[in-house]
Amino acid sequence: MSVRFPVARPRLPGADAILPYLRRIDDNRYYSNFGPLVAEVEARLADRFDVPPAGVTTVANATSGLTAALQAEARTRRRNVNDGPAFCLLPAWTFVATLHAVLAAGLEPYLLDVDEDTWALTPDAVANALDRVPGQPVAVMPVSPFGRPLDMDAWDALSERTGLAVVVDAAAGFDRGGAADSPVVFSLHATKVLAAGEGGFVVSRDVDQIDAIRKCINFGFMGDRVARSRAINGKMSEYHAAVTLAALDAWPETRRTFDGIARDYRDAFAGHDTLRVMPNGAEDFVTSTILLMRDSPIPEAALARLAERGVETRRWWGGGVARQVAYRRFSSDLLPVTDWLATRCVGLPCYPGLSRDDVTEIAAIVDDTLSAD
Ligand SMILES: *Cc1c(COP(=O)(O)O)cnc(C)c1O
Repeated sequence: MSVRFPVARPRLPGADAILPYLRRIDDNRYYSNFGPLVAEVEARLADRFDVPPAGVTTVANATSGLTAALQAEARTRRRNVNDGPAFCLLPAWTFVATLHAVLAAGLEPYLLDVDEDTWALTPDAVANALDRVPGQPVAVMPVSPFGRPLDMDAWDALSERTGLAVVVDAAAGFDRGGAADSPVVFSLHATKVLAAGEGGFVVSRDVDQIDAIRKCINFGFMGDRVARSRAINGKMSEYHAAVTLAALDAWPETRRTFDGIARDYRDAFAGHDTLRVMPNGAEDFVTSTILLMRDSPIPEAALARLAERGVETRRWWGGGVARQVAYRRFSSDLLPVTDWLATRCVGLPCYPGLSRDDVTEIAAIVDDTLSAD
């Protein structure tokens, strides 16, 4: 039997909304390799993020965008091979894709803890950690936690001051993510707030960075068929561009939908003494994930009881990347905040179609189940 309230049940643009774009693909006979629909996606996003038209590139997904951006950016940093392996610093409190991108770009990861209020890495924490890295730090990958906006000016300043390449993982940050002097990477995965099934894009005020990233997602080619750098195939197809264009058309309505669900959850838990939800409304951003927080750990057994009562939950980021990757141990700081968050926060059902009554019912089940332990 399917669960009554799944944790996610994405609703992407329907066939009728996508069809006019598909017909254009039929006429164009252009299916990938930076085709006309991809160009239109990039132009619309450049406008939204207030960067030059060449300041955006689409990518196959955020993981390939992060990988290519690190490949492109880290390569330009001066390195002395005698200083040991090249490291990328990243928060332990993130989805495992952030770490995969660091490894795929040929860098060694160094995991840092996050700030307990914002759940994000801070530029100061990075600056203070540089001496502890067992090699040469060349890059840092800050992560927007579940779409919460980051202070991009502070990261630009850190890059300027330290010479570190900054590549921002803003995978879930479409609503309030902003451009920087460094590449910022967004995901269009089905579970994200703006969704195309699979897909993503990279934004920067520095068009040369975007140019270099386009080379890295296209086999290292630049105008001819000679591979000029380490590279991948990370291009977005015209079909994914078609869905992305339809999703952009529907964005105002999608935003209202997710904003409404977050409000309903906040109302349902308002005044509760041990349970809270994120986003908490203090910052105005919309995301596709609702996280339940409790001051004491939420054990697996409680989540199993919730599932029995029809409410599916998910620890979206597991125990953080240090605990989630089975095959290797990584250089790391102590991670008390990450460990704290990993045991105390869990994703609740959040998807278009969830009514205010549904949310009220979910909140009652959660309250009842969690106050029993
Ligand atoms: C979703 C997500 C990713 C992965 O995005 P894909 O487009 O699926 O590759 C990476 N990092 C974070 C923080 C995410 O939330």
